[in-house]
Amino acid sequence: MIAQRQALPDHGFKAPPFLQQYPAEGNPSADLSRKNKGSNNWYKAKDDLNRLHEKISHKRRDWFWKLAHELTNEYDVLIFEDLNLLAMKKLWGRKVSDLSFSTFLEILETVANNKGKTIHFIARFYPSSKTCFDCGYHNQELTLKERAWDCPDCGTKLDRDLNAAKNIQRAVRPRVILKDMRSGML
Ligand SMILES: [Zn+2]
Repeated sequence: MIAQRQALPDHGFKAPPFLQQYPAEGNPSADLSRKNKGSNNWYKAKDDLNRLHEKISHKRRDWFWKLAHELTNEYDVLIFEDLNLLAMKKLWGRKVSDLSFSTFLEILETVANNKGKTIHFIARFYPSSKTCFDCGYHNQELTLKERAWDCPDCGTKLDRDLNAAKNIQRAVRPRVILKDMRSGML
């Protein structure tokens, strides 16, 4: 099957609250800054803050595993455009560093390998929606709002997403795996 081109944004997942903010019951980071550096209370506040970060990081990893399983259960082939990856980062919010993002990619790769699923990445600027799958005509004028278009060159009626998915599938090189791509992006 062809994975939905925008599988992730369409997947409807949002960053869980624990990725976005500190818990409501206090702000350990502010607590720490109020203490005299080096005092007993400062060390105590520092411990609290470290514990909280550890807790968040565990929750985040759990969530990454869950999401990786969801995605790999749903799709046999996961095709990503770099832009989608950037969109994911946006969804997750600024607090999520590139480090945890690459953690997610590692987890996803592990899960996909275990299940015999395939992950592909294609170049960021590949005009998958704007290129006619049948004749290669490049439709510069296509806007995001247009869900379908008729190719002026060969006359084919094109569904935006299906056309893009077919183009992406054709563009995918099977040997492009997560590791190759990650070094370029992160
Ligand atoms: Zn055409």
